[in-house]
Amino acid sequence: MQYITLNDGVRIPQLGYGVWQVPDAQAHESVAAALEIGYRHIDTAAAYENEAGVGRAVAESGLVREEVFLTTKLWNANQGYDATLRAFDRSLELLGTEYVDLYLIHWPVPEQDLYIESWRALEKIASDGRARAVGVSNFTAETLDRLLKEGTRTPAINQIELHPYFPQAAMREYNRKHGIATEAWSPLGQGGDLLKEPLLTTLGDRYGKSPAQVVLRWHLQLGNVVIPKSVTPSRIRENFEVFDFELTPEEVDQITALGSDGGRIGPDPATFN
Ligand code: NAD
Repeated sequence: MQYITLNDGVRIPQLGYGVWQVPDAQAHESVAAALEIGYRHIDTAAAYENEAGVGRAVAESGLVREEVFLTTKLWNANQGYDATLRAFDRSLELLGTEYVDLYLIHWPVPEQDLYIESWRALEKIASDGRARAVGVSNFTAETLDRLLKEGTRTPAINQIELHPYFPQAAMREYNRKHGIATEAWSPLGQGGDLLKEPLLTTLGDRYGKSPAQVVLRWHLQLGNVVIPKSVTPSRIRENFEVFDFELTPEEVDQITALGSDGGRIGPDPATFN
């Protein structure tokens, strides 16, 4: 496993396992499979309603808590200082743990204008040692500019939609300039047309890898933290086997060139509430 050292010194496994849209009962089974395969980083959120299943899988894995990097996120409806602290308590309770490794504000929701207050609560959670690192998700340059100006701590991570159809060059550069790690959500483009791209098939054939593995390798070489999701054990394993080959810089650029400004799959963070 490769690690990225965050701006607060915390080390995060660069490849993790995401559990969006995995029902609670199934999350237990899927996370157990991922931990068995070797993943040591799980990405969940209060909104995924599977923190209990994730927590149970970690507890029953036989691993000590410190061996697993656990991320969860604050949901939009719970933003605000006090509400955030309460939501965080509830997440810890469901996860069955005393602390998380990373706590993120899930979306900025500029329209409700509570993300600065929420960030103050995350700063408190971090200083109390209940989250080893704190960060944001779906933050734009505009919302981050304000957070950096009004907050006292720089987010460790910005988790954003990022895949070859939407490579987010400007946002990656913004994060880098400010010492914020970039984490890619929907890194496989949610498994749609992207994985049928002829370029990815060609590169896969060249290295004896699948298109999904080529895409994950592209993320790793860009320096992204990456959290692919699958509930199929063979794919969970396949997505983990990406440390034994390397793309050339030209191949990385060719994959990036698949992208366009219109390549977004998910909601626009400027308006999503
Ligand atoms: P993804 O890009 O990881 O794609 C997952 C889908 O791709 C699977 O459901 C499956 O259909 C397919 N797939 C997976 N592995 C494959 C393989 N080896 N070969 C062929 N097909 C394969 O999509 P995602 O679930 O949207 O994103 C991953 C994680 O990112 C989520 O589980 C969640 O943890 C996180 N996320 C965060 C946000 C946010 O707002 N912060 C939003 C969406 C997702």
